[in-house]
This record gives sequence, C-alpha cells and structure tokens, in this order.
Amino acid sequence: MKNFVLIVGSGLAGATSARMLAEAGFRVLIVEKLNHVAGHAYDEFNEDGILIHTYGPHIFHTKNRSVFEFMSRFTSWNYYQHRVLSYVDGMYVPFPINRDTISQIFGIDLSIEKVNEFLSDEVKHSEFKNPPVNFEDAVISQVGRRLYEKFFMNYTKKQWNRMPSELSSEIAKRIPTRSNRDGRYFSDPYQGLPLHGYTKMVEKMLDHPDISILTNCDYFEIKSEMKPVMTVYTGKLDEFFGKIHGDLEYRSLKLDFRTYRQEYYQPVSVVNYPNDYDWTRITEFKHMTGQKSDLTTVCYEYPLDSGEPYYVVMTEENANKSKLYMKEVENIEKSGEYLFIGRLAEYRYYNMDEVIARTFNKMEEWLRRKK
Ligand code: FAD
Ligand code: UDP
Repeated sequence: MKNFVLIVGSGLAGATSARMLAEAGFRVLIVEKLNHVAGHAYDEFNEDGILIHTYGPHIFHTKNRSVFEFMSRFTSWNYYQHRVLSYVDGMYVPFPINRDTISQIFGIDLSIEKVNEFLSDEVKHSEFKNPPVNFEDAVISQVGRRLYEKFFMNYTKKQWNRMPSELSSEIAKRIPTRSNRDGRYFSDPYQGLPLHGYTKMVEKMLDHPDISILTNCDYFEIKSEMKPVMTVYTGKLDEFFGKIHGDLEYRSLKLDFRTYRQEYYQPVSVVNYPNDYDWTRITEFKHMTGQKSDLTTVCYEYPLDSGEPYYVVMTEENANKSKLYMKEVENIEKSGEYLFIGRLAEYRYYNMDEVIARTFNKMEEWLRRKK
C-alpha cells in the first residue's frame, strides 16, 4: 500500500478519522489490537440474543449538530432519553438531583423557587473552598454537604478509589443539578442510541473502498515495518512515548453480565448504588435499546485499578504528567506525520460526541495544512 495513512485504533476517533481521510482522497489502513471495531463503544448480541454494550453503557448525547449530522449519515436513531435512579436511604430516587429527588429524600414538596432557596441554604450551611478546587468542593458548592454525602461521596470513592478531594472539579461538570422535575440524565438536544447499535454504525463508517482494517494487530508490533504519510494514534498516551514521563493511571471495570428469565429487572436503564454494595451501578440494556424479549440482560459495574483502560484518572499528579506527554505530542504533531486524538491518546474524560468533534477539528486542520 503506497501513500497511505495509518490509523491506530478503530474507536470513534479512529473511525471518524478514517472516514474523513478516505473522503479527502487518502488510502487508509486501520490497525486494531482487539478482534473487533468500534473501541469502547462496541456492542454485540450475547448468547441470549440481547444487544449489550460490552464495555459498559453508552448513551449518545450532544449539543453539537455537526456531530449528530455526521453520525446520522451512518445510522438512524431511537431517540432514547436517558433516566437514572439512585438507591439512597432505602429508596430509588431520580438522579441527577432535581425537585422530585429533594421531595423524596426530605419528605417536602417545594416549588421551583423554593428548591433553589433550599439548595442555597444547604450550601450556606456547608464548609468548602470557594471557588472550588476539587470534586468535593465543586459538588458541595452546588448542593451542600448533606446531598453530597448521600449521592456523591461514596460513589466517587468506589469509582475512583480516591478521596473526592483528590479529584478534579471538572468531573462535577458532568452532573447537573435541577430545580425543576426534568428527570433526564442529559439535557442535550440530540440524544439516543444508534437504531442497530454502535458496532453496525462504525462498520458503516468504515465501509469505504479506500479503508482497510487489520484487527488483532498491535501497532507497536508492526510500527517499524510501516511507512505511512501520516499516523493517527488513538491508543494510550504514555505507551506511545515508552512511558518516559512515568505511568499515567487508567481506571478499569469488571463488568458482570447476568441474564434473567423475566421481561425487565429494574424500572429504568441505570440504577446507581452510591452507598451500598461493591458495584457502582446496574444497567439494563433493553430499556435503552428498546429491544423486545422475554429475557433481559443486566450489567453490574465493579471498578478496578488495572485492566482494560476505561477511564483517565483526573488527579493533579496525572494532570501534570499528561501535560508533559502532551508537550511531546505538540512537538511530534508539528512534523505533520502524527495526530493524537481521543480519550486515551489525549488523556481526557471525553464523551463520544467530544471525541468526534475533536477529530473534526484536528483532521480539518491537518487537511488544510496538507493542501
Ligand atoms: P476507544 O474507544 O478506547 O478506542 C481506542 C481504540 O484503540 C481501541 O479499540 C483500542 O483497542 C485501540 N488501540 C489502543 N492501542 C492500540 C495499539 N497499540 N494497537 C492497535 N490498536 C490499539 N461516552 C458517551 O458519549 N456516552 C456514554 O454514555 C458513555 N459511557 C461510557 C461508559 C463507559 C464504561 C466508558 C469506559 C466510556 C463511556 N463513554 C461514553 C466514553 C466513550 O467510550 C469514549 O468517549 C469513546 O468511545 C472514545 O473513543 P476513542 O476512539 O477515543 O477511544
Ligand atoms: N457520580 C457520583 N454519583 C453518582 C453518579 C456519578 O458521585 O450517582 C460522580 C462519580 O465521581 C462519577 C462522576 O460523577 O465518576 C461522573 O459520572 P458519570 O455518570 O458521568 O460517569 P460515567 O458514565 O462516565 O461512568
């Protein structure tokens, strides 16, 4: 293959890059170390015929119309709106915290204005650093200590194996607080799951005469034999540089899938367990995919220190290390021979839409320079 671009990884960063490059006239070779495409967004039918998300629940949501339109070229949508309950004080209550959550937890029925007053009062009676410098302060500054302790403190310790005060305040931005009764997890205008799954969508993105894919192939084993005009790298950031600045931490999960001979197991797709049990949440896929069956599959998530890299760990130490690595990236990208894109390659807690938007920006810039 002559004058080809090499893409390391077939997740959404790799697949979006491949499609954009192929449509710009390049020949593309993707190497993927797993035995399938779609990266962490991969889904598949299990032996009971239920469509599951193999690497944990994935709900697409975005404010970015271009991202939604791009993906819509490769899939239709089911327009599912994500709802989560949290098991707190022996009750299943809506999460993120909204007016109904407060009613149920405190046994009071408040108007929207009164909810805002209630939350301000909770915050006023709590101690925290203002402006917030870490996750704990950031949450307390929104809902006060009592709600922080009920909903966030133990879930966060379980999920990250860190004190919430060691984690970045950025993480708190993922979870809104609402004074109304909107019980949805996300308020983005575009939400849903690809009608036939993420894997089918990615396969369609990669269905182009100038895109070839090699699965079960580790980049580092074939790197020296390849002479591409450019490499898009979407694997782990520290691994690429031989860990010269030390290990970056990635958090993993044990996903325990169980099938039950009943139509449904729980009332909504996801139930969070901040204070009880070793798992963080249970997902029931049929609620989000809309699949009909007499059986149902659920997934218990148990956080792990090591294993398949699922999450970047947003502590100060990792942020400082990743800055050193990103300086290396800046230098190497100047040559025009490499682009680093995605959750693992940029060491960022990106959602799927953010990965795609990031790919658009970096690829458009690279294509402009190439002309
Ligand atoms: P990945 O999907 O990780 O793809 C990277 C690919 O590179 C992988 O396939 C990997 O095998 C391959 N690779 C790595 N190293 C090599 C190598 N040396 N050689 C060859 N191949 C290599 N986002 C949402 O928007 N909504 C959600 O609800 C949501 N839920 C999530 C739940 C969980 C449990 C997790 C872990 C993530 C969730 N995300 C969600 C985030 C979403 O998964 C990511 O934003 C997105 O999939 C990242 O795409 P990527 O291409 O950057 O990385
Ligand atoms: N979080 C929490 N309680 C919850 C849900 C989330 O404390 O019930 C915190 C926790 O630190 C978690 C973070 O908010 O890791 C982000 O939550 P999100 O649901 O976005 O996690 P993801 O789906 O990425 O695992």
